[in-house]
Amino acid sequence: MSQSDQLSGTRQCASFVALPSEDVDHFNTVPRGAFLLGPRLRCDLARDHGGRHSALLQGVGYDLYWASWPEYLVELGPRCPVLGPHPGPDPDFCLLHEGHPGPHAGEDWF
Ligand SMILES: [Zn+2]
Ligand SMILES: [Zn+2]
Repeated sequence: MSQSDQLSGTRQCASFVALPSEDVDHFNTVPRGAFLLGPRLRCDLARDHGGRHSALLQGVGYDLYWASWPEYLVELGPRCPVLGPHPGPDPDFCLLHEGHPGPHAGEDWF
């Protein structure tokens, strides 16, 4: 386990949601889907965040589908526009949904 894995392991919310099998089937077979989904999804937000749990479910082209819970919901919405503190040709960007609670999260938490 790398140091960054340990860091995100301690700073990331530990909540998981069980995805309905019909959503897993749908989002795994959607054309141009970016990811292959498993049966469970971990919250992408920081530990002790307020509000609802949230995780990126699937990316289809430029469309991003976000799952949130405890009342399971899937919404299409934009990503957080914040960029990380290390400018350069390949800047870090926040991987959470727009308007998320808690700190921004990219390759490194910031
Ligand atoms: Zn959470
Ligand atoms: Zn953010």
